[in-house]
Amino acid sequence: MTDIRIEVTGLRKSFGELDVLRGVDFSAPRGTSTVLLGPSGSGKTTVLRSLNVLDTPDAGVVRIDDVSVDFSALPPGKAGRAEAARLRAQSGMVFQAHNLFPHRTVLQNLTEGPVVAQRRPLDEVVAEARVLLDQVGLADKADAYPYQLSGGQQQRVGIARALALKPRVVLFDEPTSALDPELVGEVLAVIKDLASEGWTTMIVTHEIRFAEKVADQVLFLDGGVVVERGTPGQVIGDPREERTRRFLRRVL
Ligand code: ADP
Repeated sequence: MTDIRIEVTGLRKSFGELDVLRGVDFSAPRGTSTVLLGPSGSGKTTVLRSLNVLDTPDAGVVRIDDVSVDFSALPPGKAGRAEAARLRAQSGMVFQAHNLFPHRTVLQNLTEGPVVAQRRPLDEVVAEARVLLDQVGLADKADAYPYQLSGGQQQRVGIARALALKPRVVLFDEPTSALDPELVGEVLAVIKDLASEGWTTMIVTHEIRFAEKVADQVLFLDGGVVVERGTPGQVIGDPREERTRRFLRRVL
């Protein structure tokens, strides 16, 4: 049996009158990369934010590994918040802009979460953080401050910081869209490495060529539903749906 790491069923979310997610379903096996494509406003970011419970869905079930939350039946008050927090802890989110702590060194940016939120011993956390910095090619920047780094380096620290919390799933929300073009490649290379090292990732990106290389599956979203799902060869190379074709003609 495949080990399904992410399973989303009937996910719905409205902001006021606006139905942003109108029943999103998908699953992702462990160790795979899922790329979300779709026009601006189709709900891609809201899907990621729902998985990380930065937005609380109105309905639907989200399961990440062994934690499952049915948002249609979320208990009110403290019990509901505790369920949401358990699900949130399953994923790490990398945002468009890194939002690192400006007055902490690179190493302290990585160790803060595991030590303070997860109450893990500092020496162990520091050792792991150094391995992660090495992985993202920044072993020599441990004692630098964020302002001393390029945008691409800052974003790589942001990725290492998400990994330091040992999430089951890493979510990337347009991780290169705030970068100068010449810095995009180094960040995409790090994300690609993670995917090949067995991390389970979900990536919202406009970099279609990158999506083709890194994705095990591509979800094409439009109007708050998954219109098409398949391998990059299927969805990008030979789309079935007219909406997907129209989108790809515009962006390629
Ligand atoms: P995408 O990532 O595909 O561009 P989003 O998930 O960011 O789409 O947004 C989908 C729609 O939901 C957009 O119309 C956006 O304006 C709206 N939206 C997202 N977040 C909020 C919010 N907090 N309040 C009101 N509207 C929102």
